[in-house]
Amino acid sequence: MSKTETKYVYFFGDGKAEGTVKMKNLLGGKGANLADMTSIGLPVPPGFTISTEACAYYSKNNGEYPEELKEEVLTHLHHLEELMGAKLGDNENPLLVSVRSGAAQSMPGMMDTVLNLGMTPTSVVALAKKTNNERFAWDSYRRFMQMFGDVVMGVPHDAFEHALESVKKEKNRKADTDLDVDDLKEVIARYRKIYHDVIGEDFPTDPVDQLFKSINAVFGSWDNDRAKKYRIMNDIRGLLGTAVNVQTMVFGNMGATSGTGVAFTRDPSTGDNHFYGEYLMNAQGEDVVAGIRTPQTIDTLRQVNEEVYNELVAIRSRLELHYKDMQDIEFTIQEGKLYMLQTRNGKRTIFSWLKSQVEMVEEGLITKATAVSRVPAGEFNKLFAPVLDGDAIVRNNLSVLTKGLNASPGGASGLAIFSAAKAEEIAALGKPVVLTRIETSPEDIGGMAVAKGVLTSRGGMTSHAAVVARGMGVPCVSGAGDLEIDYAKGTMKIGDTIIKEGDFISIDGFTGAVYGDKIDVKPSEIVQVLDGTMKEEDSTLFKDYNTFMSYVDEIRTMEVRTNADTPTDVKMAVKLGAQGIGLCRTEHMFFGGQRIISIRKMILANNLIEREKALSELLPMQRSDFEEIFTALNGLPATVRLLDPPLHEFLPNDHTSRHEMALQLGISVEEIAHKTTLLHEFNPMLGFRGCRLAIVYPEILRMQVRAIMEAALNVKAKGIEVHPEIMIPLVGHYKEFDYTKKHALSTIEAVFAEKGATIEYKIGTMIEVPRAAITADEIAKNAEFFSFGTNDLTQMACGFSRDDAASFLGPYVQDVDKGFYEYDPFETIDIDGVGKLVKMASELGRSVNPNLKIGICGEHGGDPKSVAFFQKVGLNYVSCSPFRVPVARLAAAQAVL
Ligand code: PEP
Ligand code: MG
Repeated sequence: MSKTETKYVYFFGDGKAEGTVKMKNLLGGKGANLADMTSIGLPVPPGFTISTEACAYYSKNNGEYPEELKEEVLTHLHHLEELMGAKLGDNENPLLVSVRSGAAQSMPGMMDTVLNLGMTPTSVVALAKKTNNERFAWDSYRRFMQMFGDVVMGVPHDAFEHALESVKKEKNRKADTDLDVDDLKEVIARYRKIYHDVIGEDFPTDPVDQLFKSINAVFGSWDNDRAKKYRIMNDIRGLLGTAVNVQTMVFGNMGATSGTGVAFTRDPSTGDNHFYGEYLMNAQGEDVVAGIRTPQTIDTLRQVNEEVYNELVAIRSRLELHYKDMQDIEFTIQEGKLYMLQTRNGKRTIFSWLKSQVEMVEEGLITKATAVSRVPAGEFNKLFAPVLDGDAIVRNNLSVLTKGLNASPGGASGLAIFSAAKAEEIAALGKPVVLTRIETSPEDIGGMAVAKGVLTSRGGMTSHAAVVARGMGVPCVSGAGDLEIDYAKGTMKIGDTIIKEGDFISIDGFTGAVYGDKIDVKPSEIVQVLDGTMKEEDSTLFKDYNTFMSYVDEIRTMEVRTNADTPTDVKMAVKLGAQGIGLCRTEHMFFGGQRIISIRKMILANNLIEREKALSELLPMQRSDFEEIFTALNGLPATVRLLDPPLHEFLPNDHTSRHEMALQLGISVEEIAHKTTLLHEFNPMLGFRGCRLAIVYPEILRMQVRAIMEAALNVKAKGIEVHPEIMIPLVGHYKEFDYTKKHALSTIEAVFAEKGATIEYKIGTMIEVPRAAITADEIAKNAEFFSFGTNDLTQMACGFSRDDAASFLGPYVQDVDKGFYEYDPFETIDIDGVGKLVKMASELGRSVNPNLKIGICGEHGGDPKSVAFFQKVGLNYVSCSPFRVPVARLAAAQAVL
């Protein structure tokens, strides 16, 4: 890159900014919004942003800068010094700056920040004189040394903490704020020694040196392990790196008239339209976020400084009108004057998303399409997450042990575990865990992700635990101040009650209640309304959900069906918006009760007569199942798939069950063992299953088709519309389809003749064998519909066993160096491979049969990214399990926008 081509540094200050809100990729979210807030006249301390392109260059070139970067930074620094009339490290009017990270997508707490930069032995004296506050100056120096030493140079945090604690102890001071100037000087002397011992050189006194070292640290933190893990977990991809914001420091710790806080323009937990936030007087930002002191709620700021409070309230409205979304802001009050340090679109729970977007549409702030486009489809199923069973609490007379803040909604019950590492261990054993900590830090995210819930004794609604748990959709109660957690002893004390690590506890993230008991969790409010156990008018959540889904359905063009095979599932799916059944796996109807006995008889039959006898036992059972399902569908279409899995799946393989079965069927255990051996296959997934069964034993197909059509006619006779669609599985050759279709047609004709009635129906096929996709034009000549079985199609196209691939697929997806697949191909469609087959087969099919109805019923039908792809290919519908139907509806609508 030549000198003239690339601009790396962008200034903001004094009402003017070189950057704009549209430059998030280049300036990061923080940098772009600082520029924007400056431009609209909000009180933002001046500074400059170093672009993400500079970070990308730094990463790619082993810590080298682009040639002109250093000079550009210095030019902007001088500009800033001129504007502020102050200078870094000056002995009269010293300028102090913060150096903060900020990528295009927010990654709270994952990357580095340095505050109070510019502190030197000379500037500390000047600052003391200028502010007439010696203690403040020395305390700022101490804080800077600790932060710079730890964050930039990697001096162990504990070493500094230890030095601080020992001075406090020796001087008999309780709180940090009790330390006087001499004490602080002593702390600084010890910090200097620690720094020298670890780093092998003196603490830097040249502020420009401090600045560049800090910029490097922020650039470097883009690639630290926790930032990388966070990006994988949050699906943040394709960004260049982090920007670096160098900004004039303002101080919230200059005494009683100063303070700092964070706030949301609406409630990030519930979405309620009230100003929501917290602040601490005489503190710096890190004190609020780290949860070390429990902050005050924002409304009490009115009593402390009414003018600032009113200014903040006005800014709240201004920002929402400007950004047309809920904002998450950081502010500082320096000696009674308000400064805005950040604004960004607020992270929030799915509950808050729903309410805030519905209300913003009703307020006329945004359109329905905007609302639909914003709500994260990947999180939508959390709306259906369980809550603590209130009846069980009353019934068992359980009392609340203590209360904290309702930081992230949802109910959780599990073993109280005091460290993230142990939480990961215990959760891997399949046990429910409530991660219980004094406070959490970025190191804990692995444990938080596997926990059913998170409980902390310290920290507010914007503490790390609260923010991260909300982002993950994990229920969280934070700041339960009465809990005394002792990591060393492995206990947690609340009054007289002692809970040991590993004991059951429960938390209610809606109310903040903590229980020392195991409590059942029950369905979400929406599910309770849908299944009739709660009245619609008692749930505002349901009302918002319903309103929002009406926006979704106005926009959506692709249909959403469900994969269901019991009347209960079908009824729930229809309530969740399913427009029919896309896949009824009939084999699921063969387990349980008398059916399994009859199907076993059928499998073990020695000849056609025995087999038909067993099938005739199954016929009435299948027929009545279908009658129930068709009735539940009440006119919606139903794709019923004929028997698919290998037969040995229906036979028992342990001795006791074989014995039982021998008694039931009146044959010997040996005979069962012999038949089972005969049916054994090395590769059952590629074996005797799907249409192959129907081809070798057409009588099975005839029984199933008869059951479907008789049921359809019986239900129709009661005045209920039925649209049966018979689906042949695992077809690879058009002759397989034509053969099975012929048998199905002759059975249907026979049923119509016997009943003296007819009904419209369709016969189609799964496309799940690669050969079927490749020859889809041949198959489509006789098929009325295709349904992509992307589970098998992925298995066979990639050559990954559906059942075993997990053992090696991890690095294929997650590793930074390997990562051959962007996502797990069984979860998100592999667009370039399997997706290509889907697209090709759709085009081939429609080239000979323009009316061909095409859907997809593999697991990908409920995955938002895959749904977007299916919309693009032009499928008529996606089909997924009942509780993913709303997610698929939302994803389908988003795919239109
Ligand atoms: C598929 O293969 O994608 C499919 C839907 O069928 P099953 O999962 O039952 O094999
Ligand atoms: Mg399949």
